Amino acid sequence: MKLISLIIPVHNEEAVLPLLQEQLLLTAGELSQYQFEFLLIDDGSQDKSYQLLQSFAAQDSRFCVLRLSRNFGKEAALMAGIDTCRGDAAVFLDADLQDPPQLIPRMLECWEAGYQDVYARRISRQGESIFKRASAWLYYRILARLSEVSIQPDTGDFRLLDRRCILALRSLREQNRCTKSLFSWIGFRKKELLFHRQARAAGKSQWKLGSLLNLAVRGITSLTTAPLRWIVILALVLCLSCTPLLAAGILLCGPARFLLLGLGCVCFLLGLQTFALGILGEYIGQIFTETKGRPVYLADTNEAREGCRHGQY
Ligand code: UDP
Ligand code: MG
Repeated sequence: MKLISLIIPVHNEEAVLPLLQEQLLLTAGELSQYQFEFLLIDDGSQDKSYQLLQSFAAQDSRFCVLRLSRNFGKEAALMAGIDTCRGDAAVFLDADLQDPPQLIPRMLECWEAGYQDVYARRISRQGESIFKRASAWLYYRILARLSEVSIQPDTGDFRLLDRRCILALRSLREQNRCTKSLFSWIGFRKKELLFHRQARAAGKSQWKLGSLLNLAVRGITSLTTAPLRWIVILALVLCLSCTPLLAAGILLCGPARFLLLGLGCVCFLLGLQTFALGILGEYIGQIFTETKGRPVYLADTNEAREGCRHGQY
């Protein structure tokens, strides 16, 4: 029987946990052809969440609880789940039931049909402020623009991943994590499902403007070194813009000549200085990429090795 891990980060969610338990048991009951493990990562909760999770685990051995030593943030909690899950496939789910477990049967169907990353795309978001919706919309578009790999728009962490994807994510140990971009980076066969994101079943969202901004900056800087290349482009613009100033200065006479020649020289020197910064930036970009220690590639199949063994390569 195939084992499915549900990875659920939990931070101060005591109000919603009984409902979550109910929904998880219902989903598992409807999918009796699969075995389930409910991996609940308590991300340093200060309320009664951990005690509640422990009571779930005492009632039903499918509930496993991992408590982090403090609040590390959702990305770290997801990583803890990725490191510890044992399933043939894993589904990431928010504890507040904004990601409806009712979509899991359809995700499993797509997985059985051969897709390795079945992600849920929001067609609407309920119970969220206009500011949050607008900033999320903008963030996904900027991310998609800057990224070298295609980013799925309006898609959070709610998705099913095949074991191959989980192993791939496990091999990415970088500190500055933006899971959304990592899902794209690892590749594999992807399938989109649409859903309406509900309001929280209970409790309050813990995201603040500061953490959203932090996530956005981390997401962009962990995804691309493109902003560093913009420095070189700026340098080129500065160097080029000095040419008409210098040319006009040479042709004119009087005080305008000195003004234009002076401006042209300042522009050129500024351009040179910016160019030097740009070169430094290029090397820093390379160091940044190297320090992540990502694998150069990920294989989808083992056929080449099997072929090798049979002397075909
Ligand atoms: N969460 C977490 N650590 C945190 C903040 C949130 O594990 O520091 C969990 C939270 O319990 C929930 C999920 O991440 O299961 C999404 O959090 P939230 O609902 O606050 O975010 P939103 O849905 O508003 O983006
Ligand atoms: Mg939420």
